[in-house]
Parts: sequence; structure tokens; C-alpha cells
Amino acid sequence: HERRKQHRLRVIGQDGITRWAEATSGWIHWEGGKAIQTILLDITDQVTAQDELERNREHLTAAIESLPGGLVMYNRDGQVVLFNTQYSQLMGYSGETLTPGMHRSELHKLARSQRLFREKNELYENVYDYLDSYRYRENSVYEVEMADGRWVRCVDRVIPNGSRVCLRMDVTRERLAQRELRLAKGQAETANRAKSEFLSSMSHELRTPMNAILGFSQLLETDTEAPLNDEQLRFVSQIAKAGDHLLKLINQVLDLAKIEAGKSEIDMADVHLIDLIQESISLSSSLSKQMNIDLLCDTKKMSGIFVRGDTNRLRQILINVLSNAIKYNRPDGSVIIDMEPVSLTSLRILIRDTGIGIPADKHDKVFEAFARLGAENSGIEGTGIGLALSRKLIEQMDGQIGFDSVAGEGSTFWIQVQIADVTRMMQPASATTEAGFPDLPTAATGTTVLYVEDNSANMMLMEEVVSRINGVTLLTATNAETGLSLARTHKPNLIILDINLPGMDGYEALKAIRNEPGLAETPVVALSADAMPQQVERGKKAGFHDYLTKPINIREVRNLIQSYAESGER
Ligand code: ADP
Repeated sequence: HERRKQHRLRVIGQDGITRWAEATSGWIHWEGGKAIQTILLDITDQVTAQDELERNREHLTAAIESLPGGLVMYNRDGQVVLFNTQYSQLMGYSGETLTPGMHRSELHKLARSQRLFREKNELYENVYDYLDSYRYRENSVYEVEMADGRWVRCVDRVIPNGSRVCLRMDVTRERLAQRELRLAKGQAETANRAKSEFLSSMSHELRTPMNAILGFSQLLETDTEAPLNDEQLRFVSQIAKAGDHLLKLINQVLDLAKIEAGKSEIDMADVHLIDLIQESISLSSSLSKQMNIDLLCDTKKMSGIFVRGDTNRLRQILINVLSNAIKYNRPDGSVIIDMEPVSLTSLRILIRDTGIGIPADKHDKVFEAFARLGAENSGIEGTGIGLALSRKLIEQMDGQIGFDSVAGEGSTFWIQVQIADVTRMMQPASATTEAGFPDLPTAATGTTVLYVEDNSANMMLMEEVVSRINGVTLLTATNAETGLSLARTHKPNLIILDINLPGMDGYEALKAIRNEPGLAETPVVALSADAMPQQVERGKKAGFHDYLTKPINIREVRNLIQSYAESGER
């Protein structure tokens, strides 16, 4: 056999068209001698197709190289088919170590030996173990941290032929920003939660005993069946006074904390100045009478003027400043309330007193919470929170508060507010006076109320309240389980539940009642010391007919029981 040779020839035809031929030449025996035989095969189509393929491959490579991230492709057996430069750079493989045909597991081994990834972080106990356990047949997205702190996001897709296309992106910046954000958010949330939990538990803890103190003093003071003698009345009024002071302290601290936590809402409106001032004066008048201080105000000057603010909050500030002017006055002194415009859009309410004044070196402490500037030893009642709270409140309404004072001569406090539409029509003042207790509770016959409460003082208080309503029988239980069985046998018209109970709590008890065929329709009211708005909200959502908070208002509870007694006849 002779050797044969193959050549590829470019043939340019007479028509000028280029064609390709494959020439195969070899010696042959021919007519007793030797000859060269050449066979020409037209392979133009094949060559063009190959060229086309080559061009496509170049396009593809260029496209892959120009991707904004790394790309690697594995075949169905897990061997590297192709990858771009960004891939090896991003992952830190040096040029020669990564070659097509390499198996994925070899790549992982390489990464492990070169310590390319941070082995342990918030996502992985051991990133290499994760990569080994990685299921090759699935689409996936994951992120790895490189040893130098960079983060790479990996997006892997299995395509129909079983190959795997894997994208790699540097996401260090996003990751850091995210981490910072998460950290800050987490910290803020924890702090906020701790604060509101503290507030809620504090308010609960303090209000529960306050309920008993204030409730029993109210009962004693208003008891018509066995009225107290004068001395007893005086004592009881001391208890009530101390209780009121405590409650004020609790409420002020809660108020202050709520504003600081950004949870206090203000309801801006146009407020008639004269109403505001008259209400505040009348609410301060018993104190001024007690201290024999004249309260003077030229109300005519203020009529027809409206200011912007939350009525209740403005009144709260005014009363606080007024009561200070009365408290820190001298015997037979006076307080003058005046008004002066500061600009076209704002005015100041001035409260001038003839009192002890504030020494200059203490001026910067006046609006600090709990700072009483020596008044704590004077026997003058106070908490030291009033002005701190007032300042926070007025600032919420875009106003200001300040003062001038000379020790021994007196002080002038001012409250600056925005003027509302000055030309508006005057509106009649609406006086809201609280009606006293009804002397004789209306009779409601055959009504049974079940009260579940574990605190014995509160229980006694409720027993006293109910005993003063004719025709109402009170059943009591100190835990929900007993309460439930009482409810089953007696079918009360109304159930009043404390929320924090030993064992089953108020919410669980409510659920149990709703699931009992004979009780499902019975109105259930919560009576809890949890007075935070979220808890009241939660209670209403849970299906309580009403949610009363402690300290209880005796009249409110009476009205409640009566309303259910009248509507709930069985
Ligand atoms: P308090 O509950 O003690 O009255 P405030 O926050 O209302 O608390 O006031 C803080 C302190 O400022 C008071 O304890 C008192 O020493 C001083 N102060 C406030 N108003 C006056 C005033 N009109 N005259 C003198 N001192 C005052």
C-alpha cells in the first residue's frame, strides 16, 4: 500500500468564484508502471459551514467576555466547558489553574486548598461543606464571601441539555449597605421594643395598685349609706390626693416617653384663645383659691382670636404653667395672664407671677425632666416633669415656650403659638362639665355578672361597686378555669375578664367562652391594667365587647353593667 497525501485546495474558477477542494493523492500501479492519482472532492459547503461556526464561536466568546460579571458553564457531567476572564478574576483562580474539562469537584478542591472563600460567616458554618453538598441538578442562588471580604452572588441555571450556566457577580457594596441597614434597623427595633415593653409593663404595674387606692377612696368619699366623719373624710382625701399625685406622675412619665418614642399624636385645629384660657383658669381656680392667689386676665383682649394647636395639649401646657405660677407664688400674690403679638403670624400667651422667681444660675435647668431646682425641699407638690413635657408638646405644635425670671421678684412664662385665621367668626364656647355620680343607680332586675380577677383588692372594689347597683348579682372567680365553670352553670348576662390571669389568660378565656355553645353569645368585657393603645386595640380585635382600663372609673363600670343588664335580658 502506498502512502496517500491529503491537501486542501482553494480553487478559483473561471467565473471568479472561490471554491474549496480536498485533494487526495497517492501512487498507484498503472499500466505496469507507477502513477500519481489525485482525487478532488468539492468540500466548499463543509468549509463554509466551518467558517461560519468559527465566526459564531468568536462572537460568543466576545459576548461572554463582555458580560458585566463572571460566567462559567459546566456540561451535564459537571466538567467546565467554558468560562470568561471575569470569572477567574472574580473567584481568584489564576489563569493556568482553571482549564476546560476540569470537574467541578476539582474546582472546589482548588478553592479549598487556596482558601479562596471565607470559610465561616453569618451564612455558613463551613462554606466548602456547603459547596460539596450542593445539588448539581438544581437551579440555585447563593452568596459566598471571599477571603478578602468581597461578596459574590452566584446564580446557577440548569439548561435543557443538562448543562449548567453559572453567573457570578460582585455584590460587596450591596451586601455591606444591607448589613449596615439591617444592623441599624435591628438595633432601633430592639431599643424601641424594649422601651415600649418597659412602658407597658410599668404602666401596668403601677396602675393595678392605683386602681385599688383611687377606687376605694372614691367609694369611701361618696358612700351615702355610711358616710364618713370629718376626720375620716380628711384622711381619705389625703389618700386620694397622694393617689392622684402618683397617677399624675405615671401619666406624665408615660406621656413624656411616648413623645420621645414618637408615638404621641397631636390633632391640630383652630382653637379659640379665650375658651382655652378660660377653661385653663377655671381648672386652676381651686388651686388658686386654696393658695389665696388672684388669677387676673383681660379676656376681652383675646376674644375673636384663634390659634393653631391641639386643644387638649395646649390646655395641658397652660394649666401646667398656671399651676406653677400659683404654686411658686408668695402668700396673697397674683398671677396675670396676658397676650402679646410677636409677629403677624404668631403670638405669646404670658403668665406673669409675683412669686419666688428662679435664680439665674438655675435658668438652664428649668425645662429638664425631674429638675425641681430646690423645690423638692419646699413642701410644694410637684414632679419636675411638667415643664419638660410642656416644651416637648409645644414644639410638636411648632410653638415655643420660655420665660424671664428674677429671683425674689417673680417670673413671666410665655407660650408662643401660631395665629389661625384672625378674621374668622367667633364660635360659641362649648362647655363640657362632668356629671356627678347618679345618686340612685337604676334598678336592673335579675342580672348576673361574672368577674374574673386574681387581685383581691380589685375584686373587693368590684364587689362594692356592684353591691350598690340594685338587682345585680356578682359571681367572682380568681382564675379563668373556675370562671368558665361558673359561667357554664350560671349563664351570666355579662362577663368581665382581667387579662393577666394565672393559668389561662383573658384572651384564652375569651376563646373558650366563644367555643361553648351555651356561652358563645355572652358579652365579654376586658378590664385590664394594660392601658397601652396597642393592647386596647388587640383586645378589641380579639372580640371583647369593650376594653376598660384600670384604674377603673366607677361610673363607667356602673354604666357598663347597667347597659348590659338592660339589653341582655334572657
Ligand atoms: P414641678 O412639678 O416641680 O412644678 P415643672 O417641670 O413644672 O415641675 O417645673 C420645674 C421647676 O421649675 C419647678 O420645680 C420649680 O422649681 C421651677 N418653676 C417652675 N415654674 C416656676 C415659677 N413660676 N416660679 C418659680 N419657679 C418655677
